[in-house]
Amino acid sequence: TLARMGGDEFGILMEHLDDVDAAVDQATALLVALQSAFVLNDEQVYTGASVGLSFFPMDGTDADTLLRYADMALYHAKGIGRGVHACYSPDMEQHVQEDLRLHARLKDALAQGKLQLHYQPQVDVHSGQVVGAEALLRWNDPVLGHVSPARFIPVAEATGLILPLSQWVLDTACAQLARWARAGTPLRVAVNISAQQFRQPDFPQTVQQALQRHQVSAEWLDIEITESVAMSHPTQAREQLDALARLGCAIALDDFGTGYSSLAYLKALPVNKLKIDKSFMDGIPGDANDAAIARAIIALAKSLDLQLVAEGVETDAQLAFLRQFACETYQGWLFAKAMPADELSRLLGNQGPS
Ligand code: C2E
Ligand code: MG
Ligand code: MG
Repeated sequence: TLARMGGDEFGILMEHLDDVDAAVDQATALLVALQSAFVLNDEQVYTGASVGLSFFPMDGTDADTLLRYADMALYHAKGIGRGVHACYSPDMEQHVQEDLRLHARLKDALAQGKLQLHYQPQVDVHSGQVVGAEALLRWNDPVLGHVSPARFIPVAEATGLILPLSQWVLDTACAQLARWARAGTPLRVAVNISAQQFRQPDFPQTVQQALQRHQVSAEWLDIEITESVAMSHPTQAREQLDALARLGCAIALDDFGTGYSSLAYLKALPVNKLKIDKSFMDGIPGDANDAAIARAIIALAKSLDLQLVAEGVETDAQLAFLRQFACETYQGWLFAKAMPADELSRLLGNQGPS
């Protein structure tokens, strides 16, 4: 029995399956089938799904319980990634409750204007001049204290709150870009784009509108997407990135080296920058493997004519390594943590126009 539960949620009741494995096989087949492109009015349309499963009689013996548990498993699956299934387990309950509490507080914080955008300088390895900044979300909750974006962004992705949240980030960053331009200290600002935000068909228009609203030129805006987002649906990613490139934005691949890049796609995508992930910088200069990977990424960027930013630089030894191997830009606590815009303005004022 297939039923539409509401919105984009469907329920399937399967009464004749022998065991859990058979249900998982069905779920996998369904996910694969939904991942192909559909042609509607001559347009290719991409879709996808996540699946949550619960079982009678081991998880519950009434419909309400089974549906509630399937829903919890679904939420869990969405948190893992796209096109994934998950089976209910009792420990999900607590995680889901915690996430829902976090979601509710985050939603309030967004509505009440209590989130902040901080800016971490990106610095030229040789001159030490600030050449740009990455906008990073900061949330200081009165009860929970400082909550890391690494914790709340995945929750916002799973609940859909990421869309209004991202809109706020884009808008706030563009407003700040305009302020710095008016003050005579224009600065490139990089904004992190979540997987879901990037997949919205009208995402390039959203960016264009934000730029127009604040009258800033696209050349000052870097769009950061992670390597995995760029690579997981390459055709779709390419269309989005081409549209952003046409606007005049630069595209940076974040956390580079941690995902699986197809070098053929990398060459075909309109990418301008690679950000070497902090996990490789951590072992530099001591760890021979990290150093070798960082050198390989630097060489790759050079041969593809891409700019480079090293992330998470904390020590002079790491900076010396970057100088030696000609990585031009870095970001890290060695220079500064992310700071409020006015603090960075003071710093830029002292440095003079770049
Ligand atoms: P990311 O984009 O890779 O950002 C870099 C992270 O490394 C930031 O963590 C930054 O504070 C941290 N970092 C920079 N330099 C150093 C260093 O020298 N040492 C150490 N230990 N850490 C350093 P943060 O701000 O906690 O953000 C974590 C992640 O959350 C970001 O990783 C990004 O993926 C996501 N995020 C942050 N703000 C936003 C946002 O506005 N939108 C979206 N979609 N994601 C965001
Ligand atoms: Mg980033
Ligand atoms: Mg990163």
